[in-house]
Amino acid sequence: MTTGSLISRSGAELRYSSYDVLVIGGGIAGLTAAVGAANRWHVGLITKGALDETTTFLAQGGIAAAIGDYDSPELHLEDTLEAGVGLCDAAAVRVLVEEGPARVRELEKLGATFDRRNGKLILASEGAHSVPRVVRAGGDATGSVVASALAEAIISGSRVELHENEFVIDLLMDAGRCVGAVSLDREGGLTVTLARAVVLACGGAGQVYSHTTNPLVATGDGHAMAYRAGAVMRDMEFMQFHPTALYGSENPTLLLTEALRGEGAYLRDDAGERFMVGSHPRAELAPRDVVVRHMKDVFDRDGTDHVWLDARHLDCAFLRERFPTVHKGLEARGFDLCTELIPIAPASHYYIGGVLTDSWGRTSIPGLYACGEVASTGIHGANRLASNSLLEGLVFGDRTVRELNRYLSVSDPAVRKVRLDLADEPREGNDPTLVADRRAVLGRLMADLCGIVRTKEGLEKAAGSLEGIQKALAPPGLSVGELELFNLITVARHLILSAAMREESRGVHLRSDFRERDDASWRRHVLIHRDPGTGEPVVSSRPVEES
Ligand SMILES: Cc1cc2nc3c(=O)[nH]c(=O)nc-3n(C[C@H](O)[C@H](O)[C@H](O)COP(=O)(O)OP(=O)(O)OC[C@H]3O[C@@H](n4cnc5c(N)ncnc54)[C@H](O)[C@@H]3O)c2cc1C
Repeated sequence: MTTGSLISRSGAELRYSSYDVLVIGGGIAGLTAAVGAANRWHVGLITKGALDETTTFLAQGGIAAAIGDYDSPELHLEDTLEAGVGLCDAAAVRVLVEEGPARVRELEKLGATFDRRNGKLILASEGAHSVPRVVRAGGDATGSVVASALAEAIISGSRVELHENEFVIDLLMDAGRCVGAVSLDREGGLTVTLARAVVLACGGAGQVYSHTTNPLVATGDGHAMAYRAGAVMRDMEFMQFHPTALYGSENPTLLLTEALRGEGAYLRDDAGERFMVGSHPRAELAPRDVVVRHMKDVFDRDGTDHVWLDARHLDCAFLRERFPTVHKGLEARGFDLCTELIPIAPASHYYIGGVLTDSWGRTSIPGLYACGEVASTGIHGANRLASNSLLEGLVFGDRTVRELNRYLSVSDPAVRKVRLDLADEPREGNDPTLVADRRAVLGRLMADLCGIVRTKEGLEKAAGSLEGIQKALAPPGLSVGELELFNLITVARHLILSAAMREESRGVHLRSDFRERDDASWRRHVLIHRDPGTGEPVVSSRPVEES
């Protein structure tokens, strides 16, 4: 049994445990999968931080679902496909929009209280949705309400064994199957967890950029470990930048939810002009990629690196009640949403690229499933429609469970006890100061050369600098900071390679040397897998499947 190649045991103590199902990650996708799988199977859930240290917990706007009187799954499908700029998998989107409403109602039954008026769910407007469609909770605290309800089901149920603050390093492979994972606990010991099936739900990788809305845990570990295990990765060039993140150097930065613009907030340049008016028929509520491109044009024109969000014309009592998280977050940082213009700049927000799955969560590796942000189901195409990702976690987390039920019913019920074949030479690892410094350099490098706008020269330079960063590091020791940095480097490499291959501009991928969308050559996905012989990434492309 092998683990890929990231670590050496370095004499660490080994512990063993086993489950029917191991879920890695406790955001909306992992919690949904764990709660569902626990109805039939013995489930282990590992999270690298505490249960509330997830991207899910930070989600503000809400969950998109076609439940309004003037809405339909068909309309939600159309909006999602349009936002995805020709790269969505239409069959997967259909699954999302048709199964979404039932999953949202189940979540309510589980204890998530969504905001209602006169007994009816309140539906918010967000960019590129043609009707109000976004269910929300606590005003702008949807993520914490939803995550708490799911976490409560885990904690009060008896069949999920929860391991918080444990860092999964690598997946365990045996004869081409995924049979578990190896993790580092907070005492520095290694645990080998064997499982009949593994569900990867590790979330995103926004931390690969210096300006991000993503929490510190979003370091692409799931992407990197799946790649090392041999999984096929898809569309790794597509990182969505959110247009309205608070300008500044804080990590993570505060998000100013799109719902603010949905309620009528404006975007203004330094001269006070609403630059989105006349730039797109939906003005401030254009799709995110469109807003970000126009912001970039303003930056270039005015020689600046930020613009302004203006909510001063909206009622202050309403703002406080509707956006308590944003209001308090700004207040804590010395800003007043009611009376001041708020400086904003785009920040990395959602990783569209991920582990290739079908619409049942199956990856290219038998025994390995993926759902949530770490997966590439094809529903987002080249640009994610706002509030479709919490829905994705719910719908595909649930479908993964249904597939697990099928698979585990027919597969061998024994969890094999196998010996861990892991290098055991002593490793000194890297000095924590060097690791922190290289991580900061990596973030700036990615923002400067592989951020909103990309060019061939810039990407080549980025690839060279990335090699330099890697060469300055010794192989990682058993410390979370080092392992995260190595995972971030892997994700950065995939981003750069895929962005270099896609010689067009589409959705969130903007090439200033190939400014047009090129359907004739590029209605294709970029795929990456690891060559088992050389250990190097192999990049290829494949046409979008028509369905
Ligand atoms: C500020 C903000 C606001 C957002 N608002 C919305 C919104 O309103 N609506 C919407 O649809 N989307 C929103 N999004 C996006 C959405 O929140 C995420 O895409 C979604 O929550 C991801 O869920 P997930 O379950 O895939 O991963 P996460 O919620 O990120 O959870 C990942 C889990 O994996 C664990 N993990 C990671 N690596 C390891 C490892 N090595 N070992 C063990 N565990 C590991 C983490 O500890 C964590 O438990 C927002 C994103 C941000 C950043």
